[in-house]
Amino acid sequence: MRSAEHPIPRIGFGYDVHQLVTGRPLVLGGVAIAHTHGLDGHSDADVLIHAIMDALLGAAALGDIGKHFPNTDPQYRGISSVRLLAHVGELLASRGYALVNIDATLILEAPKILPHVPQMQANIGAALGVDPDRISIKATTGEAMGFVGRREGAAAHAVAAILQLP
Ligand code: MG
Repeated sequence: MRSAEHPIPRIGFGYDVHQLVTGRPLVLGGVAIAHTHGLDGHSDADVLIHAIMDALLGAAALGDIGKHFPNTDPQYRGISSVRLLAHVGELLASRGYALVNIDATLILEAPKILPHVPQMQANIGAALGVDPDRISIKATTGEAMGFVGRREGAAAHAVAAILQLP
């Protein structure tokens, strides 16, 4: 089989969920947001960045964040997910991939996310070495239904498009 002579587009999908608990900071897209509850997890539990990392790894067929950053490994306890994202970006770059764009949706009942979106785009763009306008972040609620609506947790979905360079 011949290798392709032009960049090959690839897409990936990521999903993550974390519990909302008291006594934890709420970190989303690398932004610490003042709130009564935060997300529980081994790292900073940044559910948005976790979904984005899984989308990127999925686009490159490189597994998932559980494979690359096991939650049993003490070196990742409390770590900023922005640092893990930068590592994923370097991994893809080393394999000859370039980012086209990311589109992500956060699902949580409160607080309002919109005021923080520009900083999230800047943080994620900086970690990946791309312009923030390649990073789309949207947010919605659970409309008072399900675990999100009961404020038990937050979820995030993300898709990523990358190019496999020849
Ligand atoms: Mg996670």
